[in-house]
Amino acid sequence: MATNILVADEDTHFFGDVCKNFDYAAQFTKHDAGLLDQIKSCNSVYRFRFPIRRGNGFEVIDAWRVEHSHHQSPTKGGIRYSEMVNEDEVMALAALMTYKCAIVNVPFGGAKGGIKINPKNYTVSELENITRRYTVELIKKNFIGPSIDVPAPDYGSGEREMSWIADTYATMNPGQLDAMGAVTGKPIALHGIAGRREATGRGVAIAIRECVSFGEDMQKIGLLPGLAGKKVIVQGLGNVGYYSAKFLAEFGALIVGLCEFEGAIYNEDGLDIEAVFQHRKATGSILGYAGAKKEFKNTMEGLEQPCDILVPAALENQITEDNIRNIQAKIIAEGANGPTSPEAEAIFYANGGIIIPDMYANAGGVTVSYFEWLKNLSHVAFGRMNRRFEENSNLNLVNMVEGITGTSLTPMQRSTIIKGASELELVNSGLEDTMIRSYHEIRETYKSNPAIGTLRSAAMVGAINKIAVSYQNLGIWP
Ligand code: NAD
Repeated sequence: MATNILVADEDTHFFGDVCKNFDYAAQFTKHDAGLLDQIKSCNSVYRFRFPIRRGNGFEVIDAWRVEHSHHQSPTKGGIRYSEMVNEDEVMALAALMTYKCAIVNVPFGGAKGGIKINPKNYTVSELENITRRYTVELIKKNFIGPSIDVPAPDYGSGEREMSWIADTYATMNPGQLDAMGAVTGKPIALHGIAGRREATGRGVAIAIRECVSFGEDMQKIGLLPGLAGKKVIVQGLGNVGYYSAKFLAEFGALIVGLCEFEGAIYNEDGLDIEAVFQHRKATGSILGYAGAKKEFKNTMEGLEQPCDILVPAALENQITEDNIRNIQAKIIAEGANGPTSPEAEAIFYANGGIIIPDMYANAGGVTVSYFEWLKNLSHVAFGRMNRRFEENSNLNLVNMVEGITGTSLTPMQRSTIIKGASELELVNSGLEDTMIRSYHEIRETYKSNPAIGTLRSAAMVGAINKIAVSYQNLGIWP
């Protein structure tokens, strides 16, 4: 295996890790040092604090919005609600958004937001106050808008929070026709798009399916091609983890392990993801699920159980030098952002593994957010104008072919051929096409030069080249 893999200094933080990945990949490009510096830096870092009323007193909330790159407008990225969030993390996640958008050809710059709270410690009404006030603070500084910066959900936030943001933005911008394009990941009833909720997990599953489809690559790591029967462990049963597991199972993989913060469960014959999800909803824990053969109080032990593919889909820095040698998977597919440290990645590749990097693997969310934004700007649902027309054309064709050939299709065959595409089908088709094409691009770069060493560096090389072209098109660099 390649050995030219980046290793970070001991005290490097998340943004430092992302920059080191960038610097390593930049060696394989031919751009001016100044341009590379511009691409790598965070353009705008807005740190702010605001008070909310709590009980009989007040609490001051720390928050951030970072716009990493304005080579495309608007900038785009989720808002993380976590008591662990800090400026370094938001900068790193904003930078990853820039590279992610470039990798999947979504025309946005990267951004990210953070609100330093544990949502579980606040009432719904307090969360609404926090979210609305956060939005007002962004509006005051021109850090939100359909052509400026468009937030989305991330760890600890979802459709509910996005609808509060949309409503606050629209209220503060009366008459702005495109106001709903100021945030994505909204509920469908509030100008969201079909398929956005499950998009990141679906994208992760497609990325893995594409990766394991290459017999030549699988042979190198001692696996057979194809997803059928591949054993998978997923960490995190939130939005990304739940849907990654669900679609991987639908594509034929066997979900053998699930890890949450309260512990992990394992069964080499497979776990029923929906039943585990319902069990956790009812009891508050995945532990105690009757279909598990093994249980671990320490969630990290769950990652180290036998499997072919590990999908960390919770938080960053879960796989490090300390536990990478115990990981039995041959493929790590990063559903979460930054789950693998650079040191762990180097060891994993040296031991004959493959990492499908976050910048690509979890890009399904921003891809479908892009579709939602387009829908909001065009003020019409995908498929609305052409669905019936397509169905009538298909019907005419089927009738003509039946008439000429003298054969009759079954009702099922007729409806399959005639049916026009729904919004969900168009979204899923666009997502699948994006994930497949992008994997091929990354793999080709990876194979073009063995010194590149990892799929992450290959993805980064492609991203840098595309962003450089945007700056050149803007006339900023020759
Ligand atoms: P989420 O809040 O819906 O789910 C996260 C889950 O991880 C929760 O169920 C939580 O209990 C669990 N968890 C927390 N700490 C854990 C631990 N130590 N061990 C095991 N499980 C733990 O968040 P999400 O939206 O699914 O985001 C997860 C990751 O995916 C984040 O890194 C996020 O940045 C990334 N991501 C999310 C999206 C998206 O569309 N939601 C898109 C791209 C990337």
